[in-house]
Amino acid sequence: MEVTLLDRRNFHLFQPLLYQVATGSLSPGEICAPLRSILSRQKNTRVLLGEAVDIDPRAGTLTLKDGGQFEYDSLIVSTGSKTSYYGQDGWRTSAPSLKTVEEATAIRHKILFAFEAAERETDPGKRTAWLTFVIVGAGATGVELGGALGEIARHTLRYDFRSIHPPDARILILDGSPRVLPSYPPDLSTHAEGSLRDLGVTVKSGVKVTAVDAGGVTYEEPGGGHQRVESKTVLWAGGVTVTTFGRKLAERTGAPTARAGHIEVNPDLTVPGFPNIYVVGDLALAKNREGKPLPGVAQVAMQGGAYAAKAIVARLNGPKDLEPFHYFDKGDLAVIGRGRAVANIFGWHLSGLFAWLVWLFVHLMYLVQFQSRILVFVQWGMEYLTFSRGARLITGEPVKDAEVE
Ligand SMILES: Cc1cc2nc3c(=O)[nH]c(=O)nc-3n(C[C@H](O)[C@H](O)[C@H](O)COP(=O)(O)OP(=O)(O)OC[C@H]3O[C@@H](n4cnc5c(N)ncnc54)[C@H](O)[C@@H]3O)c2cc1C
Repeated sequence: MEVTLLDRRNFHLFQPLLYQVATGSLSPGEICAPLRSILSRQKNTRVLLGEAVDIDPRAGTLTLKDGGQFEYDSLIVSTGSKTSYYGQDGWRTSAPSLKTVEEATAIRHKILFAFEAAERETDPGKRTAWLTFVIVGAGATGVELGGALGEIARHTLRYDFRSIHPPDARILILDGSPRVLPSYPPDLSTHAEGSLRDLGVTVKSGVKVTAVDAGGVTYEEPGGGHQRVESKTVLWAGGVTVTTFGRKLAERTGAPTARAGHIEVNPDLTVPGFPNIYVVGDLALAKNREGKPLPGVAQVAMQGGAYAAKAIVARLNGPKDLEPFHYFDKGDLAVIGRGRAVANIFGWHLSGLFAWLVWLFVHLMYLVQFQSRILVFVQWGMEYLTFSRGARLITGEPVKDAEVE
């Protein structure tokens, strides 16, 4: 069997720790690993850099952005998702999201620059706007960003400025759902909200953001009135939609899609009518045995990838019926700063320090390269002892130039 791994990036990105890059805890190199080195010992696999833009599913060919063409016998598509601004793409410039390394460094730039600008600002109104941070979305990403921002303001930068007092920073999380972490059990949401409050983060649930611009954000209260928050730093942790290639695949195969473009796959993760095309990960809308859609999380993506690979091997070894894809849910974890996390593992609801230690262990173990695990472990150890953040650098491109998909 010959395997080709095609990606428009030459590295694997461990997205669950992106917020740590955005908040200056880790550097991009610590959560990325070159694809070539990951697969260097797998002799039947070649890695190619290129972006798939089109597909002819009947002829079995892929077309790349640079005009290159590839034939395949079996195809696994896992192009993931990109941030959705719910049709308001203009908000992206003022409210960057957290999906790529470029966006993470752009957010880091924005956060650290806001404190610098506030230090020099003499107008009290403008200074408050620089020290007001708004996060739109209270899912795991929004909560993790909020917790890290709370720590930066309360601990990391506490003694570093002379004109401003960083703990005075106002950090606001806005969400349309009635509670934070809406996919978690309610008691864990309550714990998470309590931890956020302890870090000086205010959560406004049940609100709808109606405008975002360079000066701040406007939202609609549950009762109907509108509120304006002047803020120079609005961060987007809203929903996701599928990538451009995902849409093209759906168009070319006529596959059914959900509202956000996710491809509704067969129980064996193939595209209806195309038994040699598998769709896995965030792009797929797969269901569990009860018919409930599986979440867009790393575990589903990893198990789906392993299943599709086994299914292809099984098919090559002779026609036989393969068990449908079965997702083994190992649980959910979200961290809300130093020593605080919530976890729902096999029905056990954990919170506080123990959940945080579980989070630490799991995230270290899933980092792809052994070298990164050691580096991150040492970095976290130092930061835990000193309250510091090793990568507090104002670098990176302005948000508008960042890679957005
Ligand atoms: C900030 C953040 C935090 C998260 N935290 C967690 C968490 O704590 N726990 C958890 O389980 N999940 C978490 N997730 C979700 C998890 O990261 C995703 O579910 C998982 O990465 C999906 O894997 P995937 O392979 O489908 O897509 P991705 O990991 O996004 O990989 C897609 C790959 O396809 C490549 N690609 C895209 N389009 C093309 C193209 N046209 N041609 C060539 N290559 C292409 C991309 O470069 C990328 O390498 C988080 C996600 C984010 C953004």
